[in-house]
Amino acid sequence: MTMEEIRIQHREIRKDKPDESNLLFGQHFTDHMFLLDYNLEQGWHDPRIVPYAPLVLDPAAMVLHYGQAVFEGMKAFLAKDEQILLFRPNKNMERFNQSNRRLEIPEIDGDFIIHAIQSLVNVDKEWIPSGKGTSLYIRPFIIATEACLGVRASHTYQLIVILSPVGAYYSEGLEPVKINVETSYTRAVRGGLGTAKAAGNYAASIKAQTEAKEAGYSQVLWLDAIEKKYIEEVGSMNIFFKIDGKVITPHLNGSILAGVTRDSIMELLCNWGISVEERQISIEEVYEASKNNTLEEVFGTGTAAVISPVGELFWDNHQMIVNQGDIGQLSQKLYDTITGIQTGLIPDTLHWTV
Ligand code: PMP
Repeated sequence: MTMEEIRIQHREIRKDKPDESNLLFGQHFTDHMFLLDYNLEQGWHDPRIVPYAPLVLDPAAMVLHYGQAVFEGMKAFLAKDEQILLFRPNKNMERFNQSNRRLEIPEIDGDFIIHAIQSLVNVDKEWIPSGKGTSLYIRPFIIATEACLGVRASHTYQLIVILSPVGAYYSEGLEPVKINVETSYTRAVRGGLGTAKAAGNYAASIKAQTEAKEAGYSQVLWLDAIEKKYIEEVGSMNIFFKIDGKVITPHLNGSILAGVTRDSIMELLCNWGISVEERQISIEEVYEASKNNTLEEVFGTGTAAVISPVGELFWDNHQMIVNQGDIGQLSQKLYDTITGIQTGLIPDTLHWTV
């Protein structure tokens, strides 16, 4: 679509803002939201910013029955001089369209959606928290809205962007977490939806997550669906290992989501002269490294936490303690660098912020 003008309808009575010192993830939403409709005749049309409000959906809307829904997750940061920075939004838009293609949802114009996000963030800029580690989480998503009980691609969609002020993921510095290696449930299979940021993937993951929590773990480590041997992701993050000085991450095998943070970390490491092996890595290999004392660091990567160090892995009755449960040097350096670039404290020589 062309850069159609975005209509703006301001909210008359502003909502109360939450206490910035105690923001939980994804619990508060700003005053406005962005909407864009799709139908076969007009394509994507009628971009508008309106007061945040419940949606009106037909009970037969196809998203409610067949789950044609995709989303993205990104953040806006308040930098020096009240500047608002987005981190690599084009990467999120590329992935949005990858998800769209996989779910037979019409593609969007990424540049236009970035422009819409910038307009929305600007309208609600008073909601961007300013404390260290805080940000405005941006959630663009698309749902199938046609009223029809038939399994096929919907003929109408709505793209919505909502904003949520979020607190520091770590209030007292990075905290290593305990992870259960999941050997029964599967998150995604090759040829399935794993490479798309599709709502259904998260539905598939919840039961394992609940059981891991009940057993005292923060999250699950996902293995491949067939052999339950090769490592895929951790919770809803990508995963990296430092074994005997080498950095390894599972290659994008057709069931792993390609994270923007994963990509950024690989580029940073490459710039620092540290090569990353993108390859299959089995849980046995990690267990062997743990026995030989060469398992130096394990960390998850994603937009919400940036880096989440793993302090302990539990697999098949084996407990593996990583780096005595402490934060690894590389994990800390990557965290400091990415968050520094995101908030404008470190020069953005890679031109990642917008
Ligand atoms: N894997 C999954 C399943 C995810 O949901 C996410 C979060 N979007 C990631 C990996 C990490 O992606 P990103 O670095 O783009 O946040």
